[in-house]
Amino acid sequence: MSEFNRQKIVESVPQKGFFGHPKGLFTLFFTEFWERFSYYGMRAILVFYLYYEVSNGGLGLDETTALAIMSIYGSLVYMSGIIGGWLADRIFGTSKAVFYGGILIMFGHIALSIPGNVAMFFISMVLIILGTGLLKPNVSSVVGEMYAEDDNRRDAGFSIFYMGINLGAFLSPLIVGSVMDYSFHLGFGIAAIGMFAGLVMFVFTKKKNLGLAGTTVPNPLSATERKKTLTYIILGITVIAILCATLIPAGILTIDSFIALVGILGIIIPTMYFIVMYRSPKTTAIERSRILAYIPLFIAAVMFWSIQEQGATILANYADKRTQLDFAGIHISPAWFQSLNPLFIITLAPLFALMWVKLGKRQPTVPQKFSLALLFAGLSFIVILLPAYFGGTDSLVNPLWLVLSYLICVIGELLLSPVGLSATTKLAPAAFSAQTMSLWFLASAAAQAINAQIVKFYSAETEMVYFGVIGGASILLGILLLIISPKIQSYMKGVR
Ligand code: GLU
Ligand code: ASP
Repeated sequence: MSEFNRQKIVESVPQKGFFGHPKGLFTLFFTEFWERFSYYGMRAILVFYLYYEVSNGGLGLDETTALAIMSIYGSLVYMSGIIGGWLADRIFGTSKAVFYGGILIMFGHIALSIPGNVAMFFISMVLIILGTGLLKPNVSSVVGEMYAEDDNRRDAGFSIFYMGINLGAFLSPLIVGSVMDYSFHLGFGIAAIGMFAGLVMFVFTKKKNLGLAGTTVPNPLSATERKKTLTYIILGITVIAILCATLIPAGILTIDSFIALVGILGIIIPTMYFIVMYRSPKTTAIERSRILAYIPLFIAAVMFWSIQEQGATILANYADKRTQLDFAGIHISPAWFQSLNPLFIITLAPLFALMWVKLGKRQPTVPQKFSLALLFAGLSFIVILLPAYFGGTDSLVNPLWLVLSYLICVIGELLLSPVGLSATTKLAPAAFSAQTMSLWFLASAAAQAINAQIVKFYSAETEMVYFGVIGGASILLGILLLIISPKIQSYMKGVR
C-alpha cells in the first residue's frame, strides 16, 4: 500500500473513542469476539458430536477418525487464510472479505444446526473453512491499517484485540457446552446466532468507525489478469469436482488419504512461502538474513501449536473419557474445559504485558521467549501423563490435573503467540508484508496437519508414552533453540 493511501486511511478513522484507541477497534473487537465465539463454541462440542453414538445425538464416527478430522479441519481453517488474503489484496479489499466470510461462517453453523448426517457436516465444514479464511486474517489486517506507521499504540491495540478473541473463546464453550447434552444442534445454532450478531455489529458500525480502512484493494488485478484468473478458477473447480466424482467412488479418496494429503500440504505450503520470499529479487540481503532467522522460530511455533491445539482434540477427549465430571457437587460438561485456555489468557495477559514493561531491555529475546514457550508446552503434556503414572488408566482422574495442564500451556502461549505475531511483521521482507499474517497462521495450519497424522497413536493404553514423547520432544526442541538463540538473534539484524 502506498504511503499516501495509508495516510488517507488513518486520517479517515476517528483516532480516539475506544480505550484511547481508534474507534474502529470497537467494531473489529466485537466482530472478532463474535466470530471466535462461534468458532470455539462450535469446536468445543464438535469433537463430541463426531464420535458420540447416534443414539446420543452424535454421528457415531470412531474416536481416532473424529480427532483426526478435528485436526485437519483446524489446519484447513488457517490454510485457507492464504486464499482470503489473496482475494482481499487483489479483488475486493479486506472489509468486504470480512463481510463475505462472516456470511459463509454463519451459513456453515446453520447447516450444522439442522439435524443431518455426515454429508451435512462436510458441507458446513467447507463453508466455515472458506469463511474463516476470508474473515480471520483480514479482520486482523484492518486492525493494523488504522494506526499510522509510527503510532506506538499499535502493539497495545493488538493486545486489546487479542482480548476480544479470548473473551469470545471463553464464553462460548460454557454456553454451548451447557446445551450439548440436550441437543448438539441447538449448540451449533447458538454459534450461528453469535456469527449473526458479529455481522450485524460489523455492518452497522463500520461506516462510522472504520472510515476508509479495509476499503482499498492494494494490488488490483488488471482486466487481462482477471480473465486469466477466472479461467484458472473455473478450471480448478472443475478438476477438483471431476477428481472427487471419480476418486471417491473408486475408494481412492478416502478420509484417510485426504488426511494424508492435508498433512503434506501443511508442510509444503510454508516451505514454498519461504523459498519464494528468500529468492525474490525484491528481498534485500538484510531481509534474507531475517528470513533465515524466522525459520527456526516458525518450526518452534509449529511444535507449540501442535500441543496447544491438542487441547481441543486429545485433551477434550481426555476430559470426556478419563476425567471425573461429577466434581465438587456439580456436573461438569467436558466442553467447559475449552474455556480454561482463554480464561487463563485473559487473566494472565495483562501480567505478562506488565512484566515486559518492567523488564524493559533486560527481557528475554524473541528466540529465548520461544524456547521458554516450548518448555512450558512440553511440561503441560508431562503433567497430564502423571495421573496415569500414579493411578493407572482405569480410574477417573481429578479434573484439576487438566486445569493445571491448560494453565502451564497458556504460560507458553503468552510467551509465543503475541510475541510471534509482532516478530513476524518485523522480520517480514517489505515486499511480502501484506502476506505475513497468513504466514504466521500457517504455523498453526502445519501444526494441526501434523496432529492429524499423530492422533492415531493416542489411546488410553498409550497415553503415557504419547504425552511423554510429544512433551519430551517439545522440551528438547526448546533447549536446542535456547542454545542457538544468540545465533538466531544475530541473524535478525537488529529486530528485537
Ligand atoms: N487462538 C488464537 C486465535 O484464535 C491464535 C490462533 C493461532 O495463531 O493459531 O486467534
Ligand atoms: N487462546 C486461543 C486464542 O488466542 C483461544 C483458545 O484456544 O480457546 O485464540
